[in-house]
Amino acid sequence: MRDSARLYPLRPVTPALIEYLEAICPSGVHLNVDLSKLSRWKIGGIADCIVRPANTEQLASTIRLFKAQDVPYVVIGATSNLLFADEGLRVPCIQIGSRMSDLSIQGDTVYAEAGVWVPGLARRIMQAGLTGAEHICGIPGTLGGLLCMNGGSQRKGIGSSVVSIESVDAMGKIHYRDAEQCEFAYRSSVYQANREIITAAKLRFLPDEKKLIRQSMLNILAERNKKFPRKLPNCGSVFKSNPAMYDDIGPPGAAIERLGFKGHRVGGALVSPMHANFIVNSGEASATDVLKLIKHISAAVAGHTGHYMQAEARFVSLEGNILPVDQVLNGAML
Ligand SMILES: Cc1cc2nc3c(=O)[nH]c(=O)nc-3n(C[C@H](O)[C@H](O)[C@H](O)COP(=O)(O)OP(=O)(O)OC[C@H]3O[C@@H](n4cnc5c(N)ncnc54)[C@H](O)[C@@H]3O)c2cc1C
Repeated sequence: MRDSARLYPLRPVTPALIEYLEAICPSGVHLNVDLSKLSRWKIGGIADCIVRPANTEQLASTIRLFKAQDVPYVVIGATSNLLFADEGLRVPCIQIGSRMSDLSIQGDTVYAEAGVWVPGLARRIMQAGLTGAEHICGIPGTLGGLLCMNGGSQRKGIGSSVVSIESVDAMGKIHYRDAEQCEFAYRSSVYQANREIITAAKLRFLPDEKKLIRQSMLNILAERNKKFPRKLPNCGSVFKSNPAMYDDIGPPGAAIERLGFKGHRVGGALVSPMHANFIVNSGEASATDVLKLIKHISAAVAGHTGHYMQAEARFVSLEGNILPVDQVLNGAML
């Protein structure tokens, strides 16, 4: 365990800080939020404070307040890719969601705020007779989270549709980056390291026949519904595909399944019997259960295949550090 982790629970969320936040973000400050209810995986302790800004100005003022008071913070979207610590979250959490979800489409160009819900965005793009967003139609999350993760499916990433992105840095300053400056790579972008918060994006798509786009979306959704577990809480694919392993053995799900892990459990965390790259919360799973299960799977696959699988799912520690779950297991945060 690092020294900073040992020092917590230092509580940066003080009554004075809450008073300032409520003045900056009226109706947007939420205290003692149970992450096991809020989060997609239904796992995690209590978050001391979640702030939901209603616009970029509120967000920039919030960040400037944190900077002035030397308060660390963390940003989340819809939590579809996040595992929260059982101890909860001591630093304030900024959640970009439905309060920042304006969307307009002009010709082939989409202007969207970061809190837009992705499946709804894909539907609006289809209704405008534009193709290129079909692959995101089944991905639960916000546009900000999708851009940060360069998420996508069908071997695509949202980055290829980006014209530019607006973000706010740790000083509260606004930046605009074109697609190249966003450094999109497989399930990765510059926003995973630079601590900027994405507020809006300009995306471009190609005109096509609405009927064809709709049919392709329906096909993608039907395929996902057949393959992926839908009833029990999960975070999508736990591990990223590794090109060398893909050529040798196939995707992570195939490698994990081949070792007989489907249905294997640690506490309430269960390798989905439907898809081995999904870990579902079968009831009372803790973050520790999930981490132990991931560690076990990861070591077994590496031992049997020689291939190391990097994690796509990300862990949020109680002091607000976010790292891929495999880096937690490697001791980077312990
Ligand atoms: C059932 C299921 C299926 C899934 N299928 C897919 C899939 O096919 N393809 C795929 O790529 N993913 C998939 N996912 C994973 C997840 O949905 C995506 O990663 C999604 O884009 C995350 O968005 P979010 O808003 O939930 O972000 P969160 O999970 O809240 O955050 C993810 C990361 O983005 C950062 N972040 C969030 N918002 C912002 C912002 N505004 N500015 C800067 N950083 C931000 C967070 O700090 C965090 O590091 C799936 C998840 C589930 C539960």
